[in-house]
Amino acid sequence: MAASPHYHTDVLIIGAGAAGLLAARELAAAGRRVLLAEAQNRLGGRVHTLQPAGFRAPLEAGAEFMHEPVPLTKALLAAAGISWQGTAGQTYQVKGGQVQPDTNFFAQLPTLLARLSTLPHDLPLAEFLAREFSGDEHASLRAFATQFAEGYDAADAQRVSAWALRDEWAAGGADDSPRPLGGYGPLLHWLGAQAQAAGAAIHLATPVQEIRWQPGAATALAENGASYHARQVLCTVPLGVWQRPAGQPGHLAFAPELPTHRAAAAQLGFGSVIKVQLEFEEVFWHKRLPELEFLLSDEPVPTWWSQLPDARPLLTGWLAGPAAERLRAASLKAVLALALSSLARLLGTSPAALRARLRASYVRNWGAEPHTYGAYSYPTVGAPAARAALAAPVAGTLFFAGEGVHGGIAAGTVEAALVSGQAAARALLA
Ligand SMILES: Cc1cc2nc3c(=O)[nH]c(=O)nc-3n(C[C@H](O)[C@H](O)[C@H](O)COP(=O)(O)OP(=O)(O)OC[C@H]3O[C@@H](n4cnc5c(N)ncnc54)[C@H](O)[C@@H]3O)c2cc1C
Repeated sequence: MAASPHYHTDVLIIGAGAAGLLAARELAAAGRRVLLAEAQNRLGGRVHTLQPAGFRAPLEAGAEFMHEPVPLTKALLAAAGISWQGTAGQTYQVKGGQVQPDTNFFAQLPTLLARLSTLPHDLPLAEFLAREFSGDEHASLRAFATQFAEGYDAADAQRVSAWALRDEWAAGGADDSPRPLGGYGPLLHWLGAQAQAAGAAIHLATPVQEIRWQPGAATALAENGASYHARQVLCTVPLGVWQRPAGQPGHLAFAPELPTHRAAAAQLGFGSVIKVQLEFEEVFWHKRLPELEFLLSDEPVPTWWSQLPDARPLLTGWLAGPAAERLRAASLKAVLALALSSLARLLGTSPAALRARLRASYVRNWGAEPHTYGAYSYPTVGAPAARAALAAPVAGTLFFAGEGVHGGIAAGTVEAALVSGQAAARALLA
């Protein structure tokens, strides 16, 4: 029987998402021996541009938009020779199957922001709404704020920080959101190629189960029996992995344990998202919803968007937050049926008629995704301190990055992951 392989390196990076790949490139370029261990059989993590059978072009199973401002993402896209394109078209609201004449979804935002700006202590959003907007006359404002936090931030209104939403909403984060042309995937593959060209090694299909460490040295044990010896480790696993209970698949153990980091990770929010992609033979919704860009509704799968200005007949359904959480264990077939019935009501047709026009479908349930267990982080009350605690290096030996450790208005994005990966690489080199 062959002995399990041992590898030696200066820096072991765990996770080949945006944070890990950018850090690998920076560290390898600075002359460090870098080895990157990735659990899955592909690069990218929560960036996954792919073309399933039947689709005419690639689609985004994960990240899709650039939620401005994203200076680092733009600088890297430009360096990789990848351009981006703004979205275009009309936003519609459909309630009870009726297209609403007034589609200003954000009309209540100023009222909400005015009250949020005078809030002296941070509170979970639900508590803030119950306290400040309790009457029946505020029912639609409460519904708007809750839907926005759940749908956009994938957050639980019972836990998400009112202060953090105030900052995010005041910055107008949802306003301008271009897409990288051809998707985010090519950018991450370019980062991976650059890291390898600078000498980094990438081991795919290598889930790390345990990191044994002492100041100045660490050994990571992988599921396949391989061990990785390094002077320093940069861990970029998602918050969902941090939050996995010991004994569950996907749990990552530290020996000795890191109780402060583990408690900080438990305090932060990590929401679920289900993304449903439906490609039709042609665009048939333009009579009911001309120039459809975004559609917001009260359906079980409430949010939909097209690819405009790209005229491709692809509609993307989006279900996020507690509603997606409840469907964590649902079959892909059941989710597809739910999405088709929602969309049929929104387009004033039947699921059977939609199926007759459907060319291909693809469902990705991120709450059920191995090695991720959710979509992206959201700020709870006390999140800035928790993120700082999670990002804190240990004994100059263990370092941490990934979107979950990065706060501010970019929280939960590719930009956050890239910024955190760059910052960790610089801390390692200091
Ligand atoms: C459905 C969805 C839509 C999104 N939409 C947007 C958007 O429009 N715009 C935007 O900016 N952001 C969006 N995001 C968020 C964005 O994708 C993430 O913030 C970002 O990609 C995270 O990068 P990361 O490097 O921090 O983590 P990841 O990309 O998750 O990388 C971490 C890697 O660690 C690996 N790993 C985990 N455990 C182990 C282990 N034990 N051993 C080895 N490897 C391990 C994982 O497999 C993964 O590849 C979206 C995310 C989802 C899920």
